[in-house]
Amino acid sequence: MPELRGNPRIALATEAIRSAEVLVIGAGAGLSAAAGYDFTNSEKFARDYPGMLQHGFTEKIQMMANFSVGENILWGYYLQNVAETRFDNGEPHPVHQALRQLSELFKDWFVVTTNVDALFQRNGFDQRRIYTPQGDYGLGQCRSGCTQETWSSKPWIDNLLNQVDRSTQKLADELIPRCPNCGGPTFFNVRCASWFVDKPWLEGRLRWEAWLKRNRTQKVLSIDIGSGFNTPMWVRWPLEKITSRNPQSTLIRINRDHPDIPKQIEAQSISFQEDPLNVLNSILEDL
Ligand SMILES: [Zn+2]
Repeated sequence: MPELRGNPRIALATEAIRSAEVLVIGAGAGLSAAAGYDFTNSEKFARDYPGMLQHGFTEKIQMMANFSVGENILWGYYLQNVAETRFDNGEPHPVHQALRQLSELFKDWFVVTTNVDALFQRNGFDQRRIYTPQGDYGLGQCRSGCTQETWSSKPWIDNLLNQVDRSTQKLADELIPRCPNCGGPTFFNVRCASWFVDKPWLEGRLRWEAWLKRNRTQKVLSIDIGSGFNTPMWVRWPLEKITSRNPQSTLIRINRDHPDIPKQIEAQSISFQEDPLNVLNSILEDL
């Protein structure tokens, strides 16, 4: 891992943290990858999902919102994926702990993340300061729109994961979960299609909007980790906008694949392509 201590960008980031009044942390898939949940690792996929290879899949990202594979493979795959990424009990995760240490320096902070693995909550962040517009693998919902209710998805994992046929990664027809209300198709409460139930996340959105309003004139430090261009309207663009509205606000962007900064806020931004944990630990050491 390249040494970052003494790097002038670290000194700039440290200075920005010291002078900022409030903090917003934005996170996309790149942060979950840094916590060990990598959706593009084909070697690990071949090891963990040998049955998926015969269906033509080589990495997790290909199964994102992929309903065309049919219910048997869909559930066979997702029960295991959700067990690994949402219910693995692998806390604490060092990269989230480093972010939590940073958040504790601020009286008023907020997290907005497209990740559906609840890693912030699981690492001790206050749920009331987190907005997750894309949902949470921890909940289930109807796919027919019969109800706005959601329910814990944990029983699916507990009761069905060990019944998935590992050689084909399929779940048998008679075991496929059905909506408890209408008997129709069901899924995890994540934003894959228009059937997504937004209800559990409305309160988070209101809190996020209130946070933005009350900090309109503050010097905001935005830390944007691993948010690319898949759904930039949730994290990447809002944090750029927050930075642009006050010349004393700063954006720290940590992103291996998309480190670029828009021209208008170049002078207020510090960009890193290095590993997020390495960057955050170097900043914490420097503070
Ligand atoms: Zn239903």
